[in-house]
Amino acid sequence: MTSVSSVADAVIDLTNTFSGQLLKPADVGYDEARTVHNGLVDKRPALIARCCGVADVVDAVNLTSKLGLEVAVRGGGHNVAGRSTINGGVMIDLMPMQGIHVDLKTRTAHAQGGVTWAKLNRETQLHGLAVTGGVVSSTGIAGLTLGGGVGWLMGKYGLALDNLRSVELVSAEGKILRASKDEEPDLFWGVRGGGGNFGVATSFEYQLHPVGPTITGGLIAHPFEHARDLLRFFRDCTASLPDEHVIFGGLIHAPDGSGTKLAVIVTCDCGSLTAGEKAMRSLKQFGSPVMDTIGPVPYCQLNGISMRPSRRACSIIGSRAS
Ligand SMILES: Cc1cc2nc3c(=O)[nH]c(=O)nc-3n(C[C@H](O)[C@H](O)[C@H](O)COP(=O)(O)OP(=O)(O)OC[C@H]3O[C@@H](n4cnc5c(N)ncnc54)[C@H](O)[C@@H]3O)c2cc1C
Repeated sequence: MTSVSSVADAVIDLTNTFSGQLLKPADVGYDEARTVHNGLVDKRPALIARCCGVADVVDAVNLTSKLGLEVAVRGGGHNVAGRSTINGGVMIDLMPMQGIHVDLKTRTAHAQGGVTWAKLNRETQLHGLAVTGGVVSSTGIAGLTLGGGVGWLMGKYGLALDNLRSVELVSAEGKILRASKDEEPDLFWGVRGGGGNFGVATSFEYQLHPVGPTITGGLIAHPFEHARDLLRFFRDCTASLPDEHVIFGGLIHAPDGSGTKLAVIVTCDCGSLTAGEKAMRSLKQFGSPVMDTIGPVPYCQLNGISMRPSRRACSIIGSRAS
């Protein structure tokens, strides 16, 4: 078993070169750094390596091997099961790695492993571009892309992984690899949907598409007693939606905190505003909604609507893109 003193000795060896932080249980900031999105997860890593760059990641991987410990990688920390942290192992935390570069010539974006969708959308939307990402924009790009990645743009542009052009990884041996269609093609196949087990992904290259910045979307809510009718409507209308139009159906508690149960549809049409208005018409005319926020909305804002605390009770029961 690895002792506390061997972890401390290994940390001392790195202190002169490591640019991020190496946090042990007694260190200031340790408790904050081990916290993940799901507050029920309460794991205590032997060491948290908060990496500022690829060299830090290589050092953290090598140190983990030297100590013979298990590793967990934290991208955005949103995994509900808490897979980005670990009891008694090393948590390699990429949160400080926030670099994003948008290349307008190739319509691509390079983003580091600690970036969230909120940050990537903000940079790409400056140029009216976007890539399929999570509908809750505090989610990390890393875990979401490596696991597939569904989002508002998937009907038109596919999953996040369909838009991944290349990825830079640090392997378990501490080697830096680039995987793409042409380089390490088997590895590239594996990382697209295989999750985080192929190495520490330090950077992602995405294909971008013209989106917005203003698109059509929002939430429409009906009394809970009409849930059956609304969900039937949801099922039937998805058979003929255009690719640009994605809808989610759900049963939620009212956003005002009153506890009132509602049946809702949350939706986005990433096409032109005229097409969006037309596509939403039948949804807006259906039944007698108690709330209707559907209309022109900035793409970044639509990705933030589910982040409000009162919407956390939202239980998505299905999604359809044509
Ligand atoms: C509120 C909420 C909303 C969500 N919305 C969506 C959605 O709209 N669409 C969707 O597809 N999914 C959604 N998810 C699921 C989400 O995509 C996954 O939980 C995903 O794993 C989160 O990515 P992360 O980087 O934040 O995760 P983390 O918790 O940091 O990591 C998740 C897993 O990926 C691994 N990992 C993370 N970063 C790396 C890396 N750089 N290299 C290698 N492995 C890594 C971790 O070790 C862990 O196993 C949502 C989850 C939540 C909690």
